[in-house]
Formats: sequence, structure tokens, C-alpha cells
Amino acid sequence: MAQSEQRVKSERAFFLDRDGVLVQDVDLLTDTSQIRILPGVVEGLQAIHEHGYLSIVITNQTVIARGLIDEAELDRLHDHLREQLVQAGAPNVSAFYVCPHHPHADVVRYRVECTCRKPKPGLLERASDEMGIDLSMSFMIGDRLSDVAAGKRAGCTTALVESGAHRAPPIVGMSAEAPPPDHRFADLREAVDSLLRGQR
Ligand SMILES: [Mg+2]
Ligand SMILES: [Zn+2]
Repeated sequence: MAQSEQRVKSERAFFLDRDGVLVQDVDLLTDTSQIRILPGVVEGLQAIHEHGYLSIVITNQTVIARGLIDEAELDRLHDHLREQLVQAGAPNVSAFYVCPHHPHADVVRYRVECTCRKPKPGLLERASDEMGIDLSMSFMIGDRLSDVAAGKRAGCTTALVESGAHRAPPIVGMSAEAPPPDHRFADLREAVDSLLRGQR
């Protein structure tokens, strides 16, 4: 067995959906002018970092699969989001993990049944391997049941926030009997405060 497979996973993380949790869900976000940070996000990120957790964005980005922007442009959007959050008083987000795939992607190289598109847990598992995160000690916060399903399959405690698109129709790949979230909260601040209180 390789050395890396024996690595102790001692980090803890809050995995965060992007659209509808950190920023307003505008359906197809392709330009920095569309970024609107949601209420409670700065305070939520502060609490995450004060308690020694990593903050990791986990996001399906069909804008890539549709060819509306490329991966370099998405990286620039995320750099811009990081800067806006820091300017608003939040700590720097630890990492972004993106699924650019879609089974019906317009861009051929992204047209795959991948293992990382939520509700699949691939992005959380990759982050866990790369950053040494104990998934059973970590949380997944999203605004859709596909986020909850990904978090549950990865072994995290899950929460739904009602700040975003929680009433939107389920995305491709979701079964009708999606598991319910462990918790529901109004926004990220309330979610983080309550979940951390539960850990003490
Ligand atoms: Mg969302
Ligand atoms: Zn993927």
C-alpha cells in the first residue's frame, strides 16, 4: 500500500455549495458582475475558520459543460469571489472543487457520466484524499437535495439552507427518494453556529 493511502485524515471541513449558499443563485453565473454574496456568509465563514475547520466549495458548473466559459475563466471568477469575501471581512476560502461535466454536455470532452457531479460524492472524496479530511467529522451545507445526497454518500453530516434554490426542481441524476437533510437552517451563519454548537 502506498504511503499516501495510510495518511491520517485529521482535518475537518465545512463543504459548501456555491450557488444559493455563498452567492445568489442566478442560474448561469458567467461574469463577476453577477456575484452577490448572500446574508450570513461572511459570519459563517468566520466561525468556520475560528473553530479550526477548512471551508471547501463543492460546485457543479454546467456553464463549463455548456461551453459558456472555460475552466480558466471559472478560476478567475472564483478568484474574484475570494477577493470579494475577504474584502467583506471573511477569511480566505480553503479550496474550490468543481465538477465541469454533464451527461449531455455541449462540449464533447465534458460529456461523461463522471463520479464527481453531485449528487455523487466524488468531489468531497477527492478533497478528503488531497487535504487529509475526516469526512465523518465534516459537514456538507447546500440548498438542494443533490447537495445533501452527495454529503450523505460521503459520510458527512448534512444541512439544507433555505437562502437559495431549495424549491428548484431536482437536477439530473437525483432519484425521487432523495434522503432528507439532517438539519435545516435559514442561512450559512445560522447553519454553522448551530452545527458547531452541536459538536461541543
Ligand atoms: Mg445550489
Ligand atoms: Zn464531474
